[in-house]
Amino acid sequence: MDQENLFGNEWKVLEESRQTLENVHYQDNELLPKFKRLVTDYERLIKLTAKIFKISDIQSKNIKRHEDEVRQINDDLQQIERSRRKLMSDISHEIGTPMTSVQGYVKAMLDGVIEPGEPHLQMIYSKVLLVNDLVDDLFELSKLEASKAAFQFSEYPLEQLLDLMKSRFELEATDRGYRFSVEDFQENIPRNRYVSISMDLKRIEQVMDNFVNNAFRYTPPGGIIKIHGEIHSDGLFELGEEQLLLVGSLPCKVTFKVSDSGQGIDEESLPYVFDRFYRAIKAKNSTTPGTGLGLAIAKEIVQQHDGHIGVQSVKNQGCTFYFTLPAMLIQEQA
Ligand code: ATP
Ligand code: MG
Repeated sequence: MDQENLFGNEWKVLEESRQTLENVHYQDNELLPKFKRLVTDYERLIKLTAKIFKISDIQSKNIKRHEDEVRQINDDLQQIERSRRKLMSDISHEIGTPMTSVQGYVKAMLDGVIEPGEPHLQMIYSKVLLVNDLVDDLFELSKLEASKAAFQFSEYPLEQLLDLMKSRFELEATDRGYRFSVEDFQENIPRNRYVSISMDLKRIEQVMDNFVNNAFRYTPPGGIIKIHGEIHSDGLFELGEEQLLLVGSLPCKVTFKVSDSGQGIDEESLPYVFDRFYRAIKAKNSTTPGTGLGLAIAKEIVQQHDGHIGVQSVKNQGCTFYFTLPAMLIQEQA
């Protein structure tokens, strides 16, 4: 309630008193000077009370705001604590499962229940490798999440990156029996311009490696694996030549995509594939190797580039993993 309304009666009395003071009938009254002082004091009192009320109102609003903030911080802390506990139990489970199996096999060999032959030793070795990968990936992820991993940013022309992807994956993909292609998606770039992206090349290669290796893992040989993409310019590329000449570098965004024709990901699993340790039901039950940390690491790397990562998939029709990075459209030097 505003103060006019809150002190409505008092202001009315004051107004009436002022009118009384000006009333000609009372001008000769000997009590008039005393009444005048009384009215002045009364006015001061109302103003003071209104001021005190205002201060207390502000204070109680402040207290309410602080209470809300404290409640929010408390909720956030509880959420962090819940995810910390979940992470600890996930780690124990993911490392504990292969270790229990190793322990069982070794004990059985010591007890003479099974022969320490090659197949069993090979199985033990693969479990030990898995634990080793897990520890490496977890260490990497924790460094990335704590922003402690040092990133080395440099500028790379898009053209060079596409060539790099071709030479990096083409041989292996075709050797493994996939129909592999890297599409050039630079056709919309205006003349005498090129797209340049600031990135830590090793890290972005790590993201691409994960996408392409996942495509290998979850697509049977004979399938299609395609690297393609898009440049988003918010209409800036459509500016006329003359207007383009006036502006220097223009900001844009580049999306890199890896599509495969494999098993795809079911709708329920899609929101979780970038979570730590998440492996979609089929991958979890199958013998396909993997820690379920690859995409969580990729997400952190892309976020450290101010980028965005995502996936689209239709079950049994393959999937498209993508990430978008900020880029610049640069004018070629004459
Ligand atoms: P690693 O840590 O070795 O990469 P991973 O490949 O199982 O193990 P992620 O790369 O994080 O882990 O992928 C998480 C899950 O997402 C996979 O286990 C799989 O279920 C699903 N997935 C990822 N890529 C694909 C793909 N191209 N097709 C189908 N499912 C996929
Ligand atoms: Mg992976």
